[in-house]
Amino acid sequence: MALRRIPAKLKRRFYWAFWPIDESAGQRPVNWSGWPGQKKFAVVLTHDVEGPNGLAKVKQLAELEMELGFRSSFNFVPNGSYTVPSELRKWLTDRGFEIGVHDLAHDGKLFDSRSRFKKLALRINEYLRSWGAVGFRAGFMLRNLQWIHDLDIQYDASTFDTDPFEPQSDGTGTIFPHWMPAPEAEPANPGITETESRLRGYVELPYTLAQDSTLFLIFRETTIELWRRKLDWISKKGGMALVNVHPDYIHFEESNSSARTFSANKFRELLEYILKNYKGQYWHALPRSVAEWFRSRILSPVASIQPNPSLSANVSQGTSGPLIWIDLDNTPHVPFFKPIIRELRAKGYRVHVTARDAFQVCALASKMEVECDKIGRHYGKNRFSKVAGLIVRAAQLLPVVMHSRPVIGLSHGSRSQLLICNLFRIPTILIMDYEFTSSPPLVRPLWEIVPDALPGSNLHAQNSNRILKYRGIKEDVYVSEFKPDPSILDRLNLRGSSVIVTARPPADEAHYHNPESDVFFTHFMNRAVKHAKIKIVLLPRNKRQEDQMRSNSPEWFRGDSVIVPGKAEDGVNLLWYSDLVVSGGGTMNREAAALGVPVYSIFRGKIGAVDHRLHSEGRLVLIESLKQLDAEILLVPRARDLSPDSRHRYALQDIIGHVESIIAQHMGA
Ligand SMILES: [Zn+2]
Repeated sequence: MALRRIPAKLKRRFYWAFWPIDESAGQRPVNWSGWPGQKKFAVVLTHDVEGPNGLAKVKQLAELEMELGFRSSFNFVPNGSYTVPSELRKWLTDRGFEIGVHDLAHDGKLFDSRSRFKKLALRINEYLRSWGAVGFRAGFMLRNLQWIHDLDIQYDASTFDTDPFEPQSDGTGTIFPHWMPAPEAEPANPGITETESRLRGYVELPYTLAQDSTLFLIFRETTIELWRRKLDWISKKGGMALVNVHPDYIHFEESNSSARTFSANKFRELLEYILKNYKGQYWHALPRSVAEWFRSRILSPVASIQPNPSLSANVSQGTSGPLIWIDLDNTPHVPFFKPIIRELRAKGYRVHVTARDAFQVCALASKMEVECDKIGRHYGKNRFSKVAGLIVRAAQLLPVVMHSRPVIGLSHGSRSQLLICNLFRIPTILIMDYEFTSSPPLVRPLWEIVPDALPGSNLHAQNSNRILKYRGIKEDVYVSEFKPDPSILDRLNLRGSSVIVTARPPADEAHYHNPESDVFFTHFMNRAVKHAKIKIVLLPRNKRQEDQMRSNSPEWFRGDSVIVPGKAEDGVNLLWYSDLVVSGGGTMNREAAALGVPVYSIFRGKIGAVDHRLHSEGRLVLIESLKQLDAEILLVPRARDLSPDSRHRYALQDIIGHVESIIAQHMGA
C-alpha cells in the first residue's frame, strides 16, 4: 500500500502526464463503428450511495437531474450501513432511473479470497434478481474482473480509464466500453447455442471523469475545470463520459456543508456545461442501455470486439514468452545488459529495453547495437531537482507499463523504473553492487541480485530472502565478451606514447562526494602531465566539470598529452589500451580490475564491499593519502595479457539463473 502513503497532491503532480487525461486511452477499439444515432460521444451518469447520509439525498439528486433532463443509475450497498427502502427503488425506476448493486458489505474485503467471493457472489446475485438490477460496481473500485464473471450481470462498472488515486490503481486504459468474455475453460453446456455462448460475459464500463471525492474532497478543487477539460477531450475522441457522483459527498444548502461535502451546484454546472456546449451531439443513456447496445453488437461477427492493439513497437522478438522490461538509466548499464539481453532472448523471453536519453546512454546503446526505446529527455541540472527528474521520467515510462505489461522490471538502479513498477505492482529486480545507496520505500525493489562480496541483508530489497548472490563482480558479465579495437589508438591520437593513463575525476555532484578526492585528483594530474611521452585520456563526468578543469588548470591542456574524447568511447576498450587507471570511483575502477589493468581509486567516500574485496585481492589500490599516491602510482607500461578473457567468470550465468527462477515464481503464483 505504498501508494497510499504519498500525499495526494504530490501524486497529482507526478501523474500530470496521464491524469486526468491519458492520451492513449482515447484510441478507438478495433472495429468501433460509433455510437447509436451517429452521436459523437456518450454521457453516462452513475451514483454510488455509500451510507445513510447519501441515502437521504438520493431523491434530491435525482430531482436535480430530472430538472435538466438527465437520468442516471443509483448503486446501493445491499448489506451496508443502511437498508434500501423498496419505495425508493420504485420511486427511482418509475422515473426512469436505474438501480445497481454496489459491492455487498462495502468493507473492502469482497475480493479477499476466491472461495469467499464465490459464496458472496451468490448473495449479490440474489440482490441483483430481487432489485431487477443488471449492473455492479465494487466498493473502492477493488476488483477481479475474472471473478466478476460469477455475477449475473450485464455490465460491471468497477474500473476507470485512468485514476492513479484509487487503491487498485491500474486503469483499463480506454474511454470506451469493452467486452469481458467468460473464460473459455468453462464446460460447454449442450443447451447453449453458439450465439448464446458467444454472449457469455459482461460489458465493462469504466468511469472516465474523475471521481467527485478525488476532485473536491482530496484536491479541494474550487471549479469543475478538470471535468470540463476531460469531457471536451472525450467528446473529441468520441468516447464515453461516465461519471460517478456520491450523494453522500454533496450538500444542497451551504448550511449543510462540511469538509466531507461539496456543493451540488458543481454537479449541476457539469450537466449545464454538457447541455450548453454539446446539445444534440451525445448519446445520453443509462449504463444498462449502453451495456445492452454494446452486447447486441457482439451478435454480429463483423463487429466483434477486440482489445486495443498494443502500442509499443520495440517489444516483440517473435516469441510469446514472458516480457521482461529492462531500463537503461546510465551509461555503464549498456554493456552490462547487452549479454544479459542476449541470453534472456536466447531462452525465449521477450525483452523490451528502454533507455534514458541522458549521459550518452542512447549514443552508447546504438553504438553497441542494443536496440532500445529512448524515453525521457534530459533536463538541465538547474531546471529540476533530482527528485523531480525521477518523477518526470517515471511518468514518461508509464506507457511502457500500460501497454507492454511486463512480468518483471529489471534494472541496475533505475529508480524511475522501480517507482513506476511499484505503483503498478509489477515485481522488480534490482541488480546492485554497492550497498550504501539509500532506498526510500517507493523505489525499493522486490528482488535484489548482488555480488557475493556484499552482505546478505540490509540492502535495498526489504526481505533478505529476496536477496540473491552471484559469483564475481558485475563487470565480469561483459569484460570477457569485449573484442579489443585498436582503432581507438588513432582516434584519440595515442600512438607513440610510452604510457597511457585513463583519468576519471570524482563525481563532484554526487551526494557522497568528499572534496579530498578532488585534491588527490589534481595532485595526480599535476604530476602526470609533467611526465614525458605520456598520454592521459581525461574523462570528465560532464561538460561543466570539463569547463571547470580547463579554467582551473589550463596547464594540463597546453600540450597534447591530455586528451578529452569528443564522443562516447567504449570504456572497456579504452581501459584495455591503458597502462593504468586513476579514477574517482565507479564502474570504471572495477572494469579495470576485471581486465587486470592496474587501477588506483581516489574515491574518498564510503568504500563498498566490492572494492574492499578487490583491494584485499590486490586488484584495486585504494589511495588514502597524497604520500601513498606519489609512492604507489607508478607511471609505467603494464604487462599485457594476450586476451581479456583469461579466466572463467560466473557472474552472467548466475544472474540469468536468478532472473529465470524469479520469473518462474511470479508466473506460477
Ligand atoms: Zn462506494
